[in-house]
Amino acid sequence: MSTGKRVAIIGSGPAGLTAAIYTSRAQLQTVVYTGMQPGGQLTTTTLVENFPGFPEGILGPELMDNMQKQAERFGAMIKMEQVEKLEVLDNHKFKVISFFGEDIVDAVIIASGASAKYLGLPDEERFISKGYHSCATCDGAFYKDKIVAVVGGGDSAMEESNFLTRFAKKVYLIHRRDTFRASKIMLQRAQENPKIEFLLNQQVVELVGTDKLESVKLANTQTQEVSTLTLDGLFVAIGHTPNTKFLQGLLTTDENGYLIPKVRTMSEIEGIFIAGDIEDKIYRQAITAAGDGCKAAIDCIRWLES
Ligand code: NAP
Repeated sequence: MSTGKRVAIIGSGPAGLTAAIYTSRAQLQTVVYTGMQPGGQLTTTTLVENFPGFPEGILGPELMDNMQKQAERFGAMIKMEQVEKLEVLDNHKFKVISFFGEDIVDAVIIASGASAKYLGLPDEERFISKGYHSCATCDGAFYKDKIVAVVGGGDSAMEESNFLTRFAKKVYLIHRRDTFRASKIMLQRAQENPKIEFLLNQQVVELVGTDKLESVKLANTQTQEVSTLTLDGLFVAIGHTPNTKFLQGLLTTDENGYLIPKVRTMSEIEGIFIAGDIEDKIYRQAITAAGDGCKAAIDCIRWLES
């Protein structure tokens, strides 16, 4: 029997949908706002080989579809809507505002994730997952004995380049400057890796290929000279943007825009919980996001009971 309490979950990636499985199974009236990308970042990948329980791997969209069905089985309502604003009401309830209407709820779990930044090149959409990727941990294993490149000069780029050398025979690290944001130790690790070659002061200006990516055009940022680099895969590691626009400053973020939980998964506002990539800039895995969603849901259920 329903408890009569309503929970809004903002986001429909592994964090949001796992939270929804737990809250709906605990008899909370659960509404999931999917946002513009139902299923989240995993819907842009192909085979997911590192989510436990699927020995042969599972397609990202299929995994997310399964999670949604599992949440719906316990009564979660899925709204294909983008939340535009969240308000705290005087009676300690919350108003969730979307383009289509408003909902008053007793608690909120924010699991709106982060979006990987892409280069913003014309035509890049058609290469996504066809040689053009934003997550080496997710897609690197497809490049065994191949030639790949990573774009970026931060810790993510260093980490992804090193990771890719497990599979690829050659990894180019393309960075637009010759100094780095990356920490010294991570930079050094990449510099000492014999499979990694640094291409500095270089910017990718064009993706080239027919059915999949085959090469990229690079422009030297100092001389503007253009060259072609033939490769099998390109991984961008130029940062993520946490999806917090709808909060309009309601919650404090760190300098990179990520939310900061205060007590376990609860934010500084009681009744608002945080899960997944919206606060995690280190692990960013489907399984860690799902774990975060589970934790936030349990914290939310206990908070509502108390
Ligand atoms: P980041 O530190 O912001 O670095 C982004 C890199 O991408 C910069 O080198 C930047 O170049 C480059 N870039 C940005 N936009 C670009 C564009 N349009 N074209 C080409 N290059 C572009 O991001 P991050 O590496 O994802 O790291 C984010 C945070 O997570 C950091 O605090 C980092 O320490 C942390 N992190 C930690 C770990 C770890 O501890 N294991 C792993 C990964 C990330 P410029 O330098 O020229 O601006």
